[in-house]
Amino acid sequence: MLCERWLPNMPFKTMLLKALSLIFPDQCIFCGSILGYCKSQLCICPDCAKKITFSDEVDTCRLCGRQMPDEEMPLCPTCQSHRHYFNRAVSCASYKDDIREAVLRFKFGNCTDYARTFAAMMVRRIRPLCKTYGFDLTVCAPLSKASMNERGYNQAALLAKPIAKALGLAYCEKAFIKTKETPKQSTLNYIQRMKNVENVFALDKDPSYFAGKTILLIDDVLTTGATADALSKLLKAAGAKIVVVATLACTEKDKNNELTNEDWKEITF
Ligand SMILES: [Zn+2]
Ligand SMILES: [Zn+2]
Repeated sequence: MLCERWLPNMPFKTMLLKALSLIFPDQCIFCGSILGYCKSQLCICPDCAKKITFSDEVDTCRLCGRQMPDEEMPLCPTCQSHRHYFNRAVSCASYKDDIREAVLRFKFGNCTDYARTFAAMMVRRIRPLCKTYGFDLTVCAPLSKASMNERGYNQAALLAKPIAKALGLAYCEKAFIKTKETPKQSTLNYIQRMKNVENVFALDKDPSYFAGKTILLIDDVLTTGATADALSKLLKAAGAKIVVVATLACTEKDKNNELTNEDWKEITF
């Protein structure tokens, strides 16, 4: 038989996954089309892949990683007027269309199997940065107790663990705790989001654990950057050398969401 010729040379895990994919084939996470066995972990069909604007293919803000179509500025208006606590943020794609809908299913619809594809997308984005930064540690954004009880999983941790493993980095799942229950960021406008994360996070480890380290902070979406800034501020206060934030998706520059200098004065983390 033909299969007897190739089976012995195939690593057992791959062989098992291929066999399983005959019964439970991988599906495109965006349109649901059957893909069979996705060795690359990227369960995205060619048609859906074409529709995604990947951040490494377009102009982005050099600091926050926001896509800035039709802009020739190196920094977005927010980064021009505001100092971030993180050193840099990168994302894979804009938070819109198919990506946005898939992220919402991942976060709120129990589609935890998407983590495999999303993490693979993020690994592709982060890998080139490993040489530049030499990360010592990977951490993830925390979830409040109430959200954890309601959802049953922290979507940022579902991404961070396989990313750290694929990149061969140390991983700490509980770097932070959320000390206060707050309204969901998604229910708030821009200014409210910034204020909503003021003093609600704390480190869940001794500060010395982070001192001198170059840290990769994983979250699912960067919207205002408020959460990323608040967490980075804690890491920097503990002595972290560099904090690079990586998210699956990031909102595009939106003039309606730009903060004025007066707005910034009101915000303290
Ligand atoms: Zn598709
Ligand atoms: Zn920016």
